[in-house]
Amino acid sequence: MKKLAKKRGKKMLTVKCPRCKHNMKYDPKPGKISQKVKKCVYCGHSFKIFISPDKNRIRKMI
Ligand SMILES: [Zn+2]
Repeated sequence: MKKLAKKRGKKMLTVKCPRCKHNMKYDPKPGKISQKVKKCVYCGHSFKIFISPDKNRIRKMI
């Protein structure tokens, strides 16, 4: 099977763990991103993902 990359701009996001401060990639899926919960791959801490820059936990990566 061949996976086709979506030509529509795919946005990879970088999230920062509030506990260990590590950055990791997060691949957003369609839907309510504001209700997503990400589990840190470094320390295992689960934290909510916010798209608001005020929360300083997620950034757009071009
Ligand atoms: Zn962490």
